[in-house]
Amino acid sequence: MKRMMVVTDLDGSLLDERYSWDAALPALQRLQELKMPLVLNSSKTLSEMRELVNCLGTIAPIVAENGGLIAVHEDAGLLSQEDALVRSGRYLIEVNGLSRDVILAQAHALRAKFDYNFSGFADWSTDQVCEHTGLSRPMAERSLERHATEPILWDDTTERLAEFTAALATEGIRILRGGRFLHLMGIADKADGMRAALDLYKKQQPGTEWLVVSVGDSANDLAMLEAADIAVVIPHEDGPHIQPDAAQVIHAPAPSTVGWNEAILTIIKDACG
Ligand SMILES: [Mg+2]
Repeated sequence: MKRMMVVTDLDGSLLDERYSWDAALPALQRLQELKMPLVLNSSKTLSEMRELVNCLGTIAPIVAENGGLIAVHEDAGLLSQEDALVRSGRYLIEVNGLSRDVILAQAHALRAKFDYNFSGFADWSTDQVCEHTGLSRPMAERSLERHATEPILWDDTTERLAEFTAALATEGIRILRGGRFLHLMGIADKADGMRAALDLYKKQQPGTEWLVVSVGDSANDLAMLEAADIAVVIPHEDGPHIQPDAAQVIHAPAPSTVGWNEAILTIIKDACG
């Protein structure tokens, strides 16, 4: 029998609008009983996700910053100290592709050369991050601990943004729009993060065959869902927002946490009886 691994998005998938996963407890407990890894895969930073993972009681890898990095708990036995570039608390971090330092160096060099008018997290104090994002101070601090992405506010013309985008692209940096912010990031996405997590388990357990179940609700989850064996689409109140082209697609019967719970319980039942 294949061993199941669940890779999930957070907001709108495992978490409801109150950031609670209470309604998913039955499925979470079942995964834990069966020792099936649960990998969280989000655009959030590692610091933002770590608290959640502590509460969930899992030491599975965390994929943060839209696939830009994978963090592996030192007790998980998946990564040796030498493999990791950075350490953060009890986690060893591997950056997929470009580090934030490299991204900042390129972006700031272009700003200095062409006098582009933008500013981002790296330019701001914690108070300024609170002002610009509406985050509380502790949340802003967690959001500032970035390793692979940089949110900026563009205060220049659209034409010059196109120039800036093209110049960054030649360095392997892309720009993703999310609300008011533009996110500067490498080309890694959530699918790369999922593959990195799976590779760690394959290396640790060479004899095991894996059934990868991925759960998501939005466009930035598509690549991850399409790379999975089973893609679980979590609908919004007005229905599903994405149509992944995956080997097997399951539509959860309800939005966010409630749908997550039902879909995962059904898959476990089908796989394990
Ligand atoms: Mg989501």
